[in-house]
Amino acid sequence: MRSLPRSLDPLPDETLTGFVLRLAHRLGTTPAEILLRTGLAPGGSPGLPTRLPLSFHYHLDDAHLTVFARATLLMPAEVADMLLAPLGQRYGPLNPALTPRSTPARMIYDNPWVLTRSTRYCPPCLTGNGTPIQDRHGGPWQRLWRLPVIFLCVRHQRLLAHQCPGCGAFAQSSRAGSAIARLSDDALNPWQCRSAEVRSVPAEHPARACGADLTRESAPAGDLDSATMAALVQVQRHLVGLLAAGGPESTTSAGAPVPAAHYFADLRAAVAVIFRTWPVAREHASTPCLAAALDAEYASRVEEAEPLLNTLGKKKTSKPYTVPPRECLATGAALDIASKLLDTHDPGAARRRIAPLVQRLREVDLALSTWLRRPSWISDSLRQAVMDLRRS
Ligand SMILES: [Zn+2]
Ligand SMILES: [Zn+2]
Repeated sequence: MRSLPRSLDPLPDETLTGFVLRLAHRLGTTPAEILLRTGLAPGGSPGLPTRLPLSFHYHLDDAHLTVFARATLLMPAEVADMLLAPLGQRYGPLNPALTPRSTPARMIYDNPWVLTRSTRYCPPCLTGNGTPIQDRHGGPWQRLWRLPVIFLCVRHQRLLAHQCPGCGAFAQSSRAGSAIARLSDDALNPWQCRSAEVRSVPAEHPARACGADLTRESAPAGDLDSATMAALVQVQRHLVGLLAAGGPESTTSAGAPVPAAHYFADLRAAVAVIFRTWPVAREHASTPCLAAALDAEYASRVEEAEPLLNTLGKKKTSKPYTVPPRECLATGAALDIASKLLDTHDPGAARRRIAPLVQRLREVDLALSTWLRRPSWISDSLRQAVMDLRRS
């Protein structure tokens, strides 16, 4: 595999797919051509690749990583930093110790706590920071936007977007299991929507891309009152700080310090409990706007769970309650409460705070209550708080 004639420096927190899109744009070619020339085309099939496996968001084996680094004139460590796997050191839902999976590639499958089939994004960040290289090819598609716990851009103080303003498709949605849609399209730049055009066209013509500019929003996502924005910024700052390489190693969860990765596992469990027992935790919402967002989110989850009650076979009625919300406001509202439930240095206070939720969960969903308590799912600290309640 020969090196490319020119490459690009990765931008801070850039994803592999975002880098490939910018590189294709810089070299005036298709993403498929870049994949072929950097060793990321699936082996065996001749010609240009038609898909990039979704697992490449998360992990590249040594052979792929070495070849890609050589072809793009990067250090292997720079390539590794474009993948989601290293985030698992600090993010429990991507950490094998807290999210047991049989292989690295399986980590992203059926894991609602990582976005692999679409992404959130901040339009001003995607526009770029005004440097010549970002003016030409846009800002980075960021890795953190792929984590559902990231719902707000702290820099621009705005909720993230997740849909194309033109066609409504989820941003960067995968098509036919490919991490980049329209691999052979060389007409789109990195900040354009790659979804197929909605307008119906005669079947003999291949569907054109939507092509809408994702940096331009049709309408700003609803104005939030200042108290709500302040509460959300505070929660998001704390979480972004914990995810940053070099950030604090530990933080308080349910009465004791726990490693950052364990804290995110506790948040995941807390969100499930909040929704499954709603409105028990409603009193902890920082503002009426956040409480109302959760009322609406809860109603939609009940609606989703209802039909599952009447299906045969293994019931999965808990599932609609355990996933993070898709909407950023509801996500922020749920994490606002979850972080308040966990944020106390005193084990006694932690137990008292979570007791009403633990009790209610046992009444309405004993199976979920048992499942969430697994040692491989939450921190020792939160587990201790829950177990103490059981004993008393
Ligand atoms: Zn931003
Ligand atoms: Zn679109």
